[in-house]
Amino acid sequence: MNYSDFLPGVADIGLRNILWRLYCPVENEAMSLCNHVKSWIPIQRVFEAQPQDGDGDWIWHGKPAQWAEIRLRPKNDDMGIIFHEVFHSTFHESPLWYDSQNESWGDGFCDAFRYYMEEMQLGGQSAWSKNFKTYFGDYNRQKQDKYRGWGSLIVLHNNLDYEKFKRFWIERNKESNTPLSTILGI
Ligand SMILES: [Zn+2]
Repeated sequence: MNYSDFLPGVADIGLRNILWRLYCPVENEAMSLCNHVKSWIPIQRVFEAQPQDGDGDWIWHGKPAQWAEIRLRPKNDDMGIIFHEVFHSTFHESPLWYDSQNESWGDGFCDAFRYYMEEMQLGGQSAWSKNFKTYFGDYNRQKQDKYRGWGSLIVLHNNLDYEKFKRFWIERNKESNTPLSTILGI
């Protein structure tokens, strides 16, 4: 993506630039996770959400998906939203997504990826990160929430280790006959 396609027209140029610097390495990371899975959907632009929109949405085009765009509400105090959205481009055309017993794990994977990226890029100190960690060990909340709850199950299964998470992602896409729900205890 070119910088000119990243949040054009956003009034707060400083925030736009910070998000751009965060976005580039995280997009590379999400793409690299597709090297063994072959599912990356190129993100062509990131554009600003309108008042009636949610804080972040990933929108795909084509069937199978050919390209995607992200609608984002830029926020100084919640910069990691975009990390979640980027991982949808990794998950969406993956074998796990095509497997009806595992497709519902998409937002959990996106939040797990966000957790790691927030640790690496933002020091794990955001309000979102702190809240995410309150799910660790709280099984009732974990199983009821397909975003942070299921994401935290993925992160804990991999001992909070990003290298293990990457191997888990690749392995589960190779052999998905055991449902993730069984492996992760839902
Ligand atoms: Zn999502």
